[in-house]
Amino acid sequence: MFFTSDNAAPVPPEVLAALSEANTGYTPGYGTDAVTAAVQDRIRAVLEAPEAVVHLVATGTAANALALATLCPPWGAVFCHTHAHVQEDECGAPEFFSAGAKLLQVEGAHGKMAPEALARRIAMTGGSVHGVQRGALTLTNVTEAGTVYTPDETAALARIAHEAGVPVHLDGARFANAVAATGASPADLTWRSGVDVLSFGGTKNGLMGVEAVVFFALDRAWEFELRRKRSGHLLSKGRYLAAQMGAMLEGNRWLDWAGHANAMATRLAEGLKARGVTLWHPVQANILFAQWPAGTSARLRAAGARFYDAPAPEGYEAARLVTSWSTTPEDVDGFLAALQIS
Ligand SMILES: *Cc1c(COP(=O)(O)O)cnc(C)c1O
Repeated sequence: MFFTSDNAAPVPPEVLAALSEANTGYTPGYGTDAVTAAVQDRIRAVLEAPEAVVHLVATGTAANALALATLCPPWGAVFCHTHAHVQEDECGAPEFFSAGAKLLQVEGAHGKMAPEALARRIAMTGGSVHGVQRGALTLTNVTEAGTVYTPDETAALARIAHEAGVPVHLDGARFANAVAATGASPADLTWRSGVDVLSFGGTKNGLMGVEAVVFFALDRAWEFELRRKRSGHLLSKGRYLAAQMGAMLEGNRWLDWAGHANAMATRLAEGLKARGVTLWHPVQANILFAQWPAGTSARLRAAGARFYDAPAPEGYEAARLVTSWSTTPEDVDGFLAALQIS
């Protein structure tokens, strides 16, 4: 009953097997090996983007921060949602790697940017020497609230950005869950909706630690490579990153894993609703926020459940619950039984 995060889950055996398989003989280093080349091709195929440039890094923070630093000058603004991972959970990495770009928060319900709010924020920047200039838009899909942007919603925000000359980055730490949830094609959720650069997550979907950074707009891809090396994020033995990613992208595995995580969250959400628990946001992927009467959290933890608390109104407690590829129906049902409210 481990619902703290999807990174609490173990690594699927197929991934370990792929690492073992890659662990034979000698290859050139720094991502110039055949395993890496095959994964780059596979990602281009999945995204229907034969020209895209694909690079691997070990963490999502590196993927986001280096991508945004590539898109945004030091005197630029990165437009992000109030609760974006880049804003709340990266210890200032985007600001650091961009040499000081300013993160400007954009409001919106349920973790999604409101188009009017984005337009207003963009209109307040640029022009005079006294303010920051327009840098980049970053969206997150699945959002930090566990909701999902559709291709149309993505396109509406990207259009506002592009009309102001602002390139678009997508934090896809849970991109697989977003694809599985919407049923949209990976291309429709990204470049066909105006996304220029994608952080394509692997870790939250089961890998030991790999994310791909995909440049659909190519003019800055070389600069990204320089930034990756300069920041110490070009791994010498690159085939071990690629082998993990390759294992995830084999067949339909990545969507099976993410689809399973989403299904477990739906099962949990339905059980919680049936017991009168309030859910803060629509449950569309593998993250949910639940609010129950005070005293419930201790009971759940005593029964072995693990999760993070969220701030709740007087008399209540709230929790963030995240499911993964390895969450079982028994985990969910055990959690619901331990609630002891009806
Ligand atoms: C986990 C996560 C990341 C990446 O985090 P790392 O811990 O650096 O791998 C980025 N964005 C979101 C939305 C995440 O949930």
